[in-house]
Formats: sequence, C-alpha cells, structure tokens
Amino acid sequence: MQEEVIKSEKTKIVSDMAASVAHEIRNPLTTVRGFIQLLAADDVDKQKKQFYQRICLEELDRAQLIISDYLSLAKPDPESIEAISVHEEITYLSNLLITYANYNNIQIHKVLPEDQVLQIIGDRYKFRQALINIGKNAIEALRDGGMLEIKVSKKNDHIIINLNDTGIGMTAEQIKRLGTPYYSTKEKGTGLGTMVSFGIIKKMNGKIEITSEPGKGTEYKLIFPSSSESA
Ligand code: ADP
Ligand code: MG
Repeated sequence: MQEEVIKSEKTKIVSDMAASVAHEIRNPLTTVRGFIQLLAADDVDKQKKQFYQRICLEELDRAQLIISDYLSLAKPDPESIEAISVHEEITYLSNLLITYANYNNIQIHKVLPEDQVLQIIGDRYKFRQALINIGKNAIEALRDGGMLEIKVSKKNDHIIINLNDTGIGMTAEQIKRLGTPYYSTKEKGTGLGTMVSFGIIKKMNGKIEITSEPGKGTEYKLIFPSSSESA
C-alpha cells in the first residue's frame, strides 16, 4: 500500500513536470510563429526583418535549452532500470563538461577509485541527465574561471559523488529555492535543471546535500545506495 502511494506520487511528479515543460516550450513557439507571419508581410524593411529574425532565433534557442535541461524525462519509453557503472558515467560527464567549459579557463579534475567497481541502480540516461544539469550549473558558476572537482567514493554500502566548484556560490536562501521549478538567477536560465536532477536522484533513492558560500563555491554531495552487484 505504502509503496503504491509512493509510486503514484512519483508518477504525478513526472507528469506535472511534463505539463509544465510543455507549457514553457509553447511560449517561444508561439512567439516564433507570430514573427514568421510578420516576416511574410510585403512592407517589411530590412532592419525589421533582421529584428524579427533575431527574436525567432533567440526564442528557438530558448526552446532548445528547455528541452536539453529536460531531455531524458521527455523520453517517451518507460525507464529501464539497470546497474549503472559510476566510472563510465563520471567519465562521460567529465568529457562532456570539458567541451562545455571550453576556453573559459576552467579546469575539471576527476577523482575515481580505480581499484573498485562501483555501481548504482537506476535508468542510465536519466542519471546522466541529472549529473549533466548539476555539472552545467557548476561550469556556469565558474564565470571567471576556476576548478570543478568531481570525486567518487564508497562508504559502507553507499556511493558518494561530490561535485565541488570554486564558482560564485549561493546564499542559504538560494539553496533553499534549488529544485523548485523556474527558479533561476541567469539571464538565459530555464530554472528547470535542478528540478529535473533532484527528481531523478530522489527516484533513485539518492540523497542530495548542498553546501555553498557566496564568492567561494558550491559542493553537491550525492549519496546513492550501492548496487549489491558491486564488488
Ligand atoms: P538554471 O541553470 O537554468 O538557472 P537550474 O535549476 O539549473 O536553472 O539552477 C537554478 C539556480 O540555482 C541557478 O540559476 C543558480 O542561481 C543556482 N545554482 C545552481 N547550481 C549552482 C552552483 N553550482 N553555483 C552557483 N549557483 C548555482
Ligand atoms: Mg542549470
């Protein structure tokens, strides 16, 4: 009984999120539609044309951002639960973030215990999305360069993933708002990244601990039950 309640609650969270993201994407699409119609008028001068075009591109970029923060959850097929290799996923994440951090004087440092096979249970692509959204925030917080350290460790029957950035940091008030939809301090933020990440992590029975200090940096500590298949 208890389990069923939890299950239906989880399904509700996912469908609420889907509805809310669909709504967010509809706005830019409506704008683009309107401007394309304006572009078709006979009397549009070159300057106006350029202006309309710029707005269309900006709005499409915004829709693209929303989709990329949300990607794996929008995946229509049912999630497939498997043992995920933490090494593989952290390597994937770090390679992806290196590309994202390009040219910004940002260093990414990865610490993985090489002598252990670490596995956790969940949907690989959703887990990937959860890490990407948190990792992207860390990179974005490193406006003036700095370091992101991604460290994996095992403690008893838990696997801990630390993402530690030396970025702009957050106040206690900001930390409290993390994970709530549309909370963003960025000009082009979606405010969906942490909401999606936290949803995925909680569904994997993971815990999230955040410590941060403005001007110093932020630490995300993600704690997952270790898969019994692990060595
Ligand atoms: P978005 O990145 O689109 O703003 P998110 O949900 O991913 O939305 O993040 C919400 C807000 O949380 C960000 O706008 C930022 O203010 C804050 N935040 C999240 N992670 C960090 C971090 N590592 N360092 C500083 N601020 C962060
Ligand atoms: Mg984000």
